[in-house]
Amino acid sequence: KPNREYGHRLVIDLYDAAKPRARPKPRTPRTRPDRPRDLIIAIDAGHGGDDPGAIGARGTREKDVVLQVAKRLKRLIDREYGMRAVLIREGDYFVGLSRRVQKAREKQADLFISLHADAFDRASAHGSSVYILAEGNASSDAARWLAENENASDLIGGVSLEHKDDLLKFVLVDMMKASTIEDSHKVASSILGQLKGISHLHKTHVEQAGFRVLRSPDVPSILVEMAFISNPKEERKLRSARHQAKMAQALLKGIRNYFRKNPLAGTLLATRPRRHVISRGDTLSEIANRYRVSVRALRVANGLKNDVLPVGKVLRIPYAGS
Ligand SMILES: [Zn+2]
Repeated sequence: KPNREYGHRLVIDLYDAAKPRARPKPRTPRTRPDRPRDLIIAIDAGHGGDDPGAIGARGTREKDVVLQVAKRLKRLIDREYGMRAVLIREGDYFVGLSRRVQKAREKQADLFISLHADAFDRASAHGSSVYILAEGNASSDAARWLAENENASDLIGGVSLEHKDDLLKFVLVDMMKASTIEDSHKVASSILGQLKGISHLHKTHVEQAGFRVLRSPDVPSILVEMAFISNPKEERKLRSARHQAKMAQALLKGIRNYFRKNPLAGTLLATRPRRHVISRGDTLSEIANRYRVSVRALRVANGLKNDVLPVGKVLRIPYAGS
């Protein structure tokens, strides 16, 4: 769409045809079942490079503020127990829409969150919105995905579709899409609930649209319009470090609450933490040995600065490799 810098444009992404693009590996099994894994959150800062996104009256570019919030959110997520974030775009360059979806699936993301800022002709329009994929798009997408991915086994957790007939394949992918949309709706509501605390809501319910980046068949995906950059007051907020920090915090809380209420099997958050109550004579190396973790991991998990173990103190036992 036209903006201040460009009129109507046709953007063509060129890929090196000689280099085959890796097909994402089957999403399961990801790790050995005995070792709970981190949740992976893919954060997609909208636009970038030649595409500035919307531009505010003071010249604030959407591509810049969404990247700033994306980086803040990544830092917060990486500090969380059992969660890890990947940035789909790390700097000021453009990434094609399908490539963004593909990248999230390659990283085996459990959630895809795309960050944007809204714009409208009327400067008075304001507030945050959260979008998920419109249901109407889901069914046609299922058919399209099947057509495009002749080997669609990576779509349904490594189950081979080779000998299933076309109708069954369609039904399986369609069911998967429906449950992905249901999950997306739950995350979106959780985030909307947190945004309510820090800004006006443009709409009080989760909205649905056919955004291309929301079309992963198996990764719950949401798009957040953080505020209207076309509204002078909200443009100021979008630039403000304080508001950006609040926004990142609200997004984190929304994501965390969702995964706490809907734990994913095999992840650290779904696993009850192991505890050890110290009794007389316990030593760190003995405890480490018993639970097959390193002394260092024990120290880090419990913030221990020395080897003094008060009897009765409860130690958190980390999982190997966590
Ligand atoms: Zn945008």
